[in-house]
Amino acid sequence: MRTPSTGRETVIEADPDRIYHDRDTDEEMEVIGKLLPLSPSPSNLPWTLENLRFCNWCEQLAQKDLNDCPTCGRRMAPLGS
Ligand SMILES: [Zn+2]
Repeated sequence: MRTPSTGRETVIEADPDRIYHDRDTDEEMEVIGKLLPLSPSPSNLPWTLENLRFCNWCEQLAQKDLNDCPTCGRRMAPLGS
């Protein structure tokens, strides 16, 4: 997040529905970067290309050792089908 006038940048765990204000200037802060949440995952595989597959429901990436898609929660088709 950045305060437009001062350029002060803060990294916070932000709620996407909330508007944040700079502590000093009370300006509305603009979001300049987002980190993708590494959601807690039942998979032990590292998030690398060779360990990932596409969910047949939502087309999002999921680790190959998971049966249920971490994005849409649906049961994915067996690999190789
Ligand atoms: Zn899915």
